[in-house]
Amino acid sequence: MYNVFNLKGEDVYIDLLTDSGTGAMSDVQWAGVMRGDEAYAGGRSYFKLLEAGKDIFGYEFIQPVHQGRAAEKVLFNLLVGPGKYAISNMFFDTTRAHVEIAGARAIDCVVKEALDPTLRVPFKGNMDVEKLEELIKEHGDKVGLVVMTITNNSAGGQPVSMQNMRDVSAICTKYGIPLCIDAARYAENAYFVKQREEEFKNSTIKDIIKEMFGYADMFTMSAKKDAIVNMGGLLGVKNDKELFQRVKANTISFEGFTTYGGLSGRDLESLALGLYEGLDEAYLQYRYGQMEYLASRLDDAGITYQAPVGGHGLFIDAKALLPHIPYYEFPAQALAIELYKEAGIRSCDIGSYMLGNDPDTGEQLKSEFEFTRLAIPRRVYTQAHFDVVAEALIAIKERADKIPGYRITWEPAILRHFQASLEPIVK
Ligand SMILES: *Cc1c(COP(=O)(O)O)cnc(C)c1O
Repeated sequence: MYNVFNLKGEDVYIDLLTDSGTGAMSDVQWAGVMRGDEAYAGGRSYFKLLEAGKDIFGYEFIQPVHQGRAAEKVLFNLLVGPGKYAISNMFFDTTRAHVEIAGARAIDCVVKEALDPTLRVPFKGNMDVEKLEELIKEHGDKVGLVVMTITNNSAGGQPVSMQNMRDVSAICTKYGIPLCIDAARYAENAYFVKQREEEFKNSTIKDIIKEMFGYADMFTMSAKKDAIVNMGGLLGVKNDKELFQRVKANTISFEGFTTYGGLSGRDLESLALGLYEGLDEAYLQYRYGQMEYLASRLDDAGITYQAPVGGHGLFIDAKALLPHIPYYEFPAQALAIELYKEAGIRSCDIGSYMLGNDPDTGEQLKSEFEFTRLAIPRRVYTQAHFDVVAEALIAIKERADKIPGYRITWEPAILRHFQASLEPIVK
């Protein structure tokens, strides 16, 4: 099968498949699980979550949903449909899928610096503002939505600057296009802004978040990342009451009544607490320190990755490590399989294998990147684990030329990488 999603968790030693829902909840959050009240309508934990969401993001309307893709499902079909386009600095896989399920087409518009993994610039997650405006001029009123993904997951967990957000917001206002933040890593992005954007060096993480969200009209969020819960999502609408009415109607159809949105009361409670825990600067500093440690070991070994290292993981440049494997034989997937065989480490492909086929022609798309992602769960692993990861990669580098590419033997139409079967190409 050669699909890492089919592995049993207990057969994995270090699980870097994702940082989604894999964080360790704090004692305070677990206490919240005990305190959460289970009410179908109007429970205390629901109102606590609304207050937290309004306080941190400054939005009038907050809707819990069961995870990020649920927020996308609830919102996107209200904004785009057949014949329309959505443009993003880079769509995450489920976000792209929900644009396509709504009948629209998703266009990526990341700055070109992001495409060179060895180029160290501070905000590689940014939108290419000039290209964005060109695309809007080209497609006119067919552009129904702009999505800013913070941090830019598919580009390697790379941050978006406040200045870029201001520029994109100005363009969206000029052309009357709604701007949505894909907000899974709202706190990590703010940490980068504080570190790398002079203007914000004395700001709090919370103030940076509030300003950034102020430039958008709405957000969808997977709370399984920076809000450090095992399950949960949020949808926010700044002030469009009419849109929020329609969001509520969709939520009731897809997720459950508005005051629980597919979650238990205890989930709402731990999420309300986790939204704040994610803002703790000392925690963010320690977390980024882990990424930098692993990155420094790979620097010493001459293994290239999307640099500087991203906020939630290390994205190894599989194209550089396995230059003999072409994109249609999935080098990043090949490296993920090798890492598992070498040391029981689970990672995943963020490249052509994940990108899939052109929805119109059915042809394999060529991804800008071939990354093998080592996503780092929050508050879980120690430095000793990262040493094992570094040693495994170094061992693989030694025998890189013997590693085969892969072909797909079965695939579903949408989000194929979760379920497809592969086999090695023996030459
Ligand atoms: C995880 C993620 C999503 C989807 O969220 P789920 O909770 O997995 O459904 C959407 N966008 C980004 C950027 C993500 O990282």
